[in-house]
Amino acid sequence: MDLSKKIREVQDFPKEGINFKDITTLLQDKDAFQYMVNELCDQLKDLDIDIVIGPESRGFLVGAPVAYKIGAGFVPVRKPGKLPYETMRHEYQLEYGSDALEIHKDAIQPGQKVAILDDLLATGGTVLATAKLVEALGGEVVSINFLIELVFLNGRSVLKPYNIKALVSYD
Ligand code: 5GP
Repeated sequence: MDLSKKIREVQDFPKEGINFKDITTLLQDKDAFQYMVNELCDQLKDLDIDIVIGPESRGFLVGAPVAYKIGAGFVPVRKPGKLPYETMRHEYQLEYGSDALEIHKDAIQPGQKVAILDDLLATGGTVLATAKLVEALGGEVVSINFLIELVFLNGRSVLKPYNIKALVSYD
């Protein structure tokens, strides 16, 4: 199935000049949703993943069904102030200013094998921050999987040490 046909492109969202990839059209299509989950599970088979991590918020939509299907746990990574228990925080630079992500301190045990899943790779900042959190807790990032990669933003260059895959690429 060509998943790119199921992704809606919305011009000038959330601001002028951005061509937003809207995955809601894919998720609402039962065949496309099932195909996406199955393909991502295929990429993770034989890796013996303990934990799937999804960054807020579309990472939850992609990561949780995959975790369920491969028999792994699911751990959310969230914007500051959203997780109720003790957290570890990683701050990262944006083009203007900085942002931060948090994880529960007891979400990963040392030595656990982790896959990070998100809907889209742009600059790579979100997933790099997520990988730093996993590693700070002693987890091993064995795979990073996306539905979509915006190749022209070259996010792979900041994620060089990792094993990265995407189902749909935009050049
Ligand atoms: P990065 O940190 O790689 O620059 O940005 C990736 C994050 O921004 C992802 O978590 C993703 O959900 C969000 N994002 C940025 N642009 C888009 C887009 O066009 N479509 C969707 N669905 N998410 C986007």
